[in-house]
Amino acid sequence: MKFCQKCGGLMVPKDLGGKTVLVCIKCGNTIEVGEKSPSPYKTTITVEHSSREKTIVLSSKEVKGLPVTKDVVCPKCGWREAYYWVVQTRAADEPSTRFFKCMKCSHVWREYE
Ligand SMILES: [Zn+2]
Ligand SMILES: [Zn+2]
Repeated sequence: MKFCQKCGGLMVPKDLGGKTVLVCIKCGNTIEVGEKSPSPYKTTITVEHSSREKTIVLSSKEVKGLPVTKDVVCPKCGWREAYYWVVQTRAADEPSTRFFKCMKCSHVWREYE
């Protein structure tokens, strides 16, 4: 519950053109409600390549929500299930590269065409 900073009246939520504002029931003072915090299910993963592109670093360890493929074999431990995502490399006319992250040992590797 929020109270008006001007008069101390009760602020009630009101829909204003798609966004929610709080309106004081006493003086009509309105304040905007901040953006809702992003969904906890949103996955943001940044892939960084080393200069030699041999090491792939996942800056986020959050892999929940990524699709899973069973068409691959982990080159490290031989496990056959991996999360995967697609990264567009460099120029837009180059084919995008699929990356995999082993569900067993967390090894990350890229698909070579
Ligand atoms: Zn007020
Ligand atoms: Zn593995």
